[in-house]
This record gives sequence, structure tokens and C-alpha cells, in this order.
Amino acid sequence: MTNAPLPRLAPGATIGMLGAGQLGRMTALAAAQLGYKTHVYAPDAAGSPAAQVCAAATVAGWDDLDALERFARSVDTVTLEWENVPVATVEHLRRFTTVNPGPNVLSVAQDRINEKSFVNALGIATAPWRPAASADDVARAVAEIGPRCVLKSTRMGYDGKGQARIGAGSDPAEAWAAIGAPASDNAGGGTAGGIVEGFVTFACEVSVIVVRGGEGAMAAYPAVENRHKDGILDVTVAPAKIAPETAAEAERVARRIAEALDLVGVLAVELFVTPEGGVLVNEMAPRPHNSGHWTMDACASSQFEQLVRAVCGLPLGSVERVADARMVNLIGDDAALWPELMAEPGARLHLYGKAEARPGRKMGHVTRLFPRG
Ligand code: AMP
Repeated sequence: MTNAPLPRLAPGATIGMLGAGQLGRMTALAAAQLGYKTHVYAPDAAGSPAAQVCAAATVAGWDDLDALERFARSVDTVTLEWENVPVATVEHLRRFTTVNPGPNVLSVAQDRINEKSFVNALGIATAPWRPAASADDVARAVAEIGPRCVLKSTRMGYDGKGQARIGAGSDPAEAWAAIGAPASDNAGGGTAGGIVEGFVTFACEVSVIVVRGGEGAMAAYPAVENRHKDGILDVTVAPAKIAPETAAEAERVARRIAEALDLVGVLAVELFVTPEGGVLVNEMAPRPHNSGHWTMDACASSQFEQLVRAVCGLPLGSVERVADARMVNLIGDDAALWPELMAEPGARLHLYGKAEARPGRKMGHVTRLFPRG
């Protein structure tokens, strides 16, 4: 399936951005480099990382239909940096302007059950999984696929939040209580409140970022390895040091998903690499992704520039990697290292303009480059 060509927006046009965090900020900076303006819309936009660098900001709720209409009429197209924007919000905006990625993509990506069903229907492997709407469902699922499992809330989980590990002897009711999932959450096309996944003993975790334009043109950055600490991305190593066949399969899978979603924009697909060198899809996000920040300093066009190009109907940029890279997130108090990092020759420091360094909060990142291996 291929989209109709998007009208090409010339430099000077304004991109509407739903969500006001660092991903919106870095997209707005890339847009500005190409001569575009960005207008950010979010309930928490005031003083936000994105608003600090945008031409305009609207502070309003996702359900404020009048504010949404005014916003849509004041921009030339809309994109987003947060996949949990309510589908109804995007459907309302689409009455007045183009929004990419669209509601079909969001309803898949907002819900882990929809996501895994979609991926499996394409013949792409994931960990075994079962929906769970109660502690009894959890117990049944663990009996079928366990004993080691991970219980996750289907919606709104990120950075390991809303998850509980289950091992031999764990109490399913305790795990169910721990994730705080509602018994059923059918608002906005949601499915059961929880999903039980078989625990994957992976060799490593990788991700692939794909960009896709309005006429189906696609490009993919190489698979990168992601190491997590306390459920949060810590380090990305680009490219991943995995077998070429594994990297090629990860890229094939990511491209296949982007195509099947008829995506216009950027898609990050996170995968587990098995000890045998196979890949299992874990999750995906239809937006720039933390594991793609290295592209800002190591590639001809960054993931953020690609998003701008895709939603403005421009030719995609080159994904050529001019250097290998290692990106380290600055979480919480890590940001206090800025004087050393600024003094380090070659360290590419990016800070997000967040006033307060709370534990677990992404404050910035630093990328170091190496000659291509
Ligand atoms: P997620 O929010 O799904 O990305 O999960 C956060 C992290 O938990 C992942 O990056 C993995 O390190 C770990 N994890 C999630 N699901 C599984 C699984 N089924 N098996 C093993 N580890 C997992």
C-alpha cells in the first residue's frame, strides 16, 4: 500500500508538533536548519524543551477541540513526538490538515497487544504472549508459556514502567497488582489491561530506525545495540556488533513493518537478538527514538531531519554513516557532568533545557565518534 503523494511544503512552512519533550525539540532544531518553523502543542508545553526552540507554542489539552482546530489551521502539516497522543485528537486534527503518522499507526503502536498482533500477522516473530485482564489470566498465561515471564501494562508503559517480572514461585496476583493495570481498558481501541510475555534470554537488544516518505520511499539506519540500566536506555553502540545476517534480518523486519503500516515518518523497531542470531520484535515507536540520537552527529541526515523531510513531502536524506558512534544518555544528576563533557574534545553534547534533574529523567546525551570499523 502506498500513500498518495504529500503536497511538498517549501521552506518557510510551519510544522505542527504534538508533544513538547526533547524529541520535539530536536525535530524543531532540524526543521529550523532547513528553514521550517515549528509550532508545538501539548498540555505541558509551557517552558518545555520543545517550546524553548519553537516559533510558537499552544498550551492546551488533547481534548480541547477549539484549540486543536486553531492549531491545525495555523500550521501546514502536523506530526508528533509522542505516540500516545489520543487517536481522537489526531482524527479531529485531520479534518483541517495532514497528520503523519496517522491514527491507524497510532492505534497499533499505543497498545502492546495490537502491536504484537500486527507484527505476528506479518509473519514476524515476537516472544510468546497472552492477553491478561485479571490475575487469573496471568496465572493461566504463565502456566502456558512460563515459568519465566514479564507482565506489562498494554498501554502507556515506557522505560520499563508498568512491568513486573514473574519467575517460578511468583504470585500472579502480586504481579498484577504491581503493574496497576485496569481490569479492562477499552478506551480508544485499547485491549486487555495487561500482556504476559515469555521471558527472552537474549544475546543483546538492538533497534532499527526506518524512515518512509509519502510515496513509499524508504531508508534505514543500521541496526544499533542498546544497553539499558534500571529499565532506561543507557548506551547505544552504532552499528551493533552482530552478525551481518542478523543485522540484515532486523532491517528487513523494520522495513516490512513500516511498509505494512503505510507509515509516513520515522519508525523505531526494538528487537531482541537470540543466542542463535535470530530476532524477535519487542516493541516499536512511530517517531524519532532515543536509540537514533547518534544519527545527529554520525550520519549525513539525522533521524529528526528525516522526519521533517518525510512529513513535508521532501526527498528523504542520506542515511550514510560517516563515523561509528557511542551515545550515552545523561540521566538525572549525570547532567551535572556538563563542564567535563564540554571540555572533552570531540564529545558531542546535547542538553535538553530541562530545569530540574529528577532521578530517571533524560536530561541530555553525549555522542562520541570513532572511525568507521
Ligand atoms: P519494554 O518497555 O518492552 O521495551 O521493556 C523494557 C526492557 O525490559 C527491555 O528493553 C528489555 O531489557 C526488558 N524486557 C522487556 N520484555 C522482555 C522479555 N519478554 N524478555 C526479556 N526481557 C524483556
